Amino acid sequence: MSEVILQVALPSPLRRLFDYRAPRGIASEGLRPGVRVRVPFGRRQLVGFVAAITDQSTIPRDKLKAASEVLDIEPILPDTLWQLCRWTANYYQHSLGDTLSCALPTLLRQGEPALARQQLLWQLLPGAYPEHPAISRAPRQKQAVQILGQHPHGLSHALLGQWGLQRDTLDTLEKKGLVQQIRQSPHHSNEPLPLLREAPLTANAEQQAALDAIIASKGFTCWLLEGVTGSGKTEVYLQAIEHCLRHGKQALVLIPEIGLTPQTLERFRQRFSVPVVILHSGLNDRERMDAWLAARNGEVGIVIGTRSAVFTPLANPGLVIIDEEHDLSYKQQDGLRYNARDLAVYRARLDNCGIILGSATPALESLHNADTGRYQHLRLQQRAGDAQPPQMHCLDIRSRPLQGGLSQPMLQAIGEHLGKGNQVLVFLNRRGFAPTLMCHDCGWIAECSRCDARMTVHQSPTYLQCHHCDSQRPLDRHCPKCNSEDLRPVGAGTERSEEHLKQCFPHTPVVRIDRDSTSRKQAMQQLLKQVHAGGPCLLVGTQMLAKGHHFPNVTLVAILDADGGLFSADFRGPERMAQLITQVAGRAGRADKPGQVLIQTHMADHPLLLDLTEQGYAAIAHSELAARRSANLPPFSFMALLRAESTAPEQVNSFLEQASVSAENLQASQQLSVELLGPVPSPMERRAGRYRAQLLLQANQRAPLHNLLHQLLPLLEQAPQGRKVRWSLDIDPLDM
Ligand code: ADP
Ligand code: ZN
Ligand code: ZN
Repeated sequence: MSEVILQVALPSPLRRLFDYRAPRGIASEGLRPGVRVRVPFGRRQLVGFVAAITDQSTIPRDKLKAASEVLDIEPILPDTLWQLCRWTANYYQHSLGDTLSCALPTLLRQGEPALARQQLLWQLLPGAYPEHPAISRAPRQKQAVQILGQHPHGLSHALLGQWGLQRDTLDTLEKKGLVQQIRQSPHHSNEPLPLLREAPLTANAEQQAALDAIIASKGFTCWLLEGVTGSGKTEVYLQAIEHCLRHGKQALVLIPEIGLTPQTLERFRQRFSVPVVILHSGLNDRERMDAWLAARNGEVGIVIGTRSAVFTPLANPGLVIIDEEHDLSYKQQDGLRYNARDLAVYRARLDNCGIILGSATPALESLHNADTGRYQHLRLQQRAGDAQPPQMHCLDIRSRPLQGGLSQPMLQAIGEHLGKGNQVLVFLNRRGFAPTLMCHDCGWIAECSRCDARMTVHQSPTYLQCHHCDSQRPLDRHCPKCNSEDLRPVGAGTERSEEHLKQCFPHTPVVRIDRDSTSRKQAMQQLLKQVHAGGPCLLVGTQMLAKGHHFPNVTLVAILDADGGLFSADFRGPERMAQLITQVAGRAGRADKPGQVLIQTHMADHPLLLDLTEQGYAAIAHSELAARRSANLPPFSFMALLRAESTAPEQVNSFLEQASVSAENLQASQQLSVELLGPVPSPMERRAGRYRAQLLLQANQRAPLHNLLHQLLPLLEQAPQGRKVRWSLDIDPLDM
């Protein structure tokens, strides 16, 4: 009988499988694609996946090594997820082993057994109830008793942690004789719990119509839920999930960034009594694996996470939700450059379940898919409750002096809103104090020594920082060119606006939200506390403020600089700018008080701004789509971007030239209609000391493009020029 050969996917960038003999003494019937094996690789042992089993190898028998160990009896991924990973590797032209590594929690990647730890669960003892005198003055303990009362089978620390309950609270309760710890695998043999913790809101007519459509359908459907800001998309998600849970299925929810919207997470926890797992960055490896296993084993009802959660296995997938589907954070920008939204759609198709893509400002790709009938379009055009859409106006600042980025009429408007006891959000998408440090005598500008970029001035503490490579240095005291001491910060960032606002409104608290002010854990929540307290206050910040927040007392949104987006070199510039402005504007007037939006610009008659303020995002989206169609740009064509970088520019060029010649040959010999553009320097040619260039491949159909790439990549992997540079391929690039 011929021998069994395992083709193993290993965590390596090489796009190939590695052949091994089965470990001695292992019956071949016990081996299936999808089980993990430990194999010798050079001097190391690596954990890989059996991708296929054959009886032939191109490697001579005596050179073929045996795998050391089979780690699983059953494949650890459900079949559809295994297929998803294979599809992902193939679509993004990435190594399968590396793709599987991205999909797995660290411990499983390292070869740990796929078994949940026997968990210690907390359970109420008889006689414990929230009004118990022993805890009458301990609100945390009271809350713990309340929650445990709703979970008669007990809860693990990880799950209690989701309500913010700490170990010492439970320890104290144990000493008081109110709770005990039991050893059990989590959620095991749970009897059906009440599903909801609170009643749903009564859906309005538009929400109900959307829900009716979602609930009526069976199997795979992708809905584009286009709902204006404040229209109550979250309520639609919650009720769609409820329906899914009632059918004994699980829901997967992807959100752009966990830390940014603690409120949204709170709404999920408050609504449902079923276990909700939130995959956040604070989980340690063990907790992450336990959560992953609990999802795979069907022990949790809802999984919420960011981009990489798209790879969470579910035992009974019933619904996928992508909140803010236009958000750029769904696209991974290094390594496996996948788009989690697109993968989620494919995944739902494999799982034969529904998927909702929600946004007030859908990506043009998604709108196009809705226009062509691939997605079902659902619209929420009214704000929920009594809220009215905000009124948007441009504020022409030509020849008006700006202080801290603010014009006089803007300050006046801010004063009026604060005077009425309301809150104001000031938006400036530029952190730091000033984007430029300039010599007033000779015009010298402080630049980054490693990038083609200016240094940003930061204050308190004072330093210069490059926002592209993060390098820092002290502020220059003298101009290196003319020795003058008159160096001035030019322009405004959030720190400068904050400072000026504090001077103008000394009695109003000013809260600044940007990457610098929120870098510490929980900092965002702390800062937002003041805002949610509701009194008059000023919020200054970057696009972090644009994402999904609900600030009921904000009545004015002041946009300090809309001009940057009007000159973007990227063809996606107008789309991005319209999304950002619409999202920020959407923070105004979300409750019963009407909202106003003022946009400072030097180009108040720019057609894009006019359309945006008068007609809104949908109008812009459709005119942009028409422009893309006539320019043959995505979504009407398909792109892949080959990037290369090195400290030596000639090596970058030589590699890309070689790639271009190879691509040209393939295309000519097989008549693949793929257009090659470049190589050209990347938009910022030098970054962190490396020279960067790119070759763009574009086609009207996906098939010829992918066909060409499939043949091109092995050539690039073998090209000697490729060893001297860092190169990568980005399929459906968003950043050009
Ligand atoms: P979106 O995500 O679409 O911007 P949200 O889901 O945050 O909007 O909803 C905005 C506000 O409207 C929230 O305070 C929410 O509680 C409220 N809301 C949503 N649906 C309803 C409804 N049917 N009745 C009353 N209020 C609602
Ligand atoms: Zn000078
Ligand atoms: Zn730099």
